[in-house]
Amino acid sequence: MKIIRCKDIINLLSDFYDNEIDNEIETLFWEHIEECKRCLSLVHNFEKTLELYHSFKPIKLEPQMKREFHRWLHIEIKKITIKKYKYKK
Ligand SMILES: [Zn+2]
Repeated sequence: MKIIRCKDIINLLSDFYDNEIDNEIETLFWEHIEECKRCLSLVHNFEKTLELYHSFKPIKLEPQMKREFHRWLHIEIKKITIKKYKYKK
């Protein structure tokens, strides 16, 4: 059984929305999202952003756009991680 970590979620997100993810991984993906608030908010933000870009069109990310999303997602994760540490102290 593979274990999905937070950094795997980032890599899977764009594949997931392109329907390029297999069922087993998808299950693990959602299991992780349910357990991990950090990734949950990440997915919410991702979806919100996707909605802005593709209000009524089916989602299909171009390679260039995927890279931008990945960059953006890394920034979001950093922000959320920093917040988490602040609350702990
Ligand atoms: Zn996570």
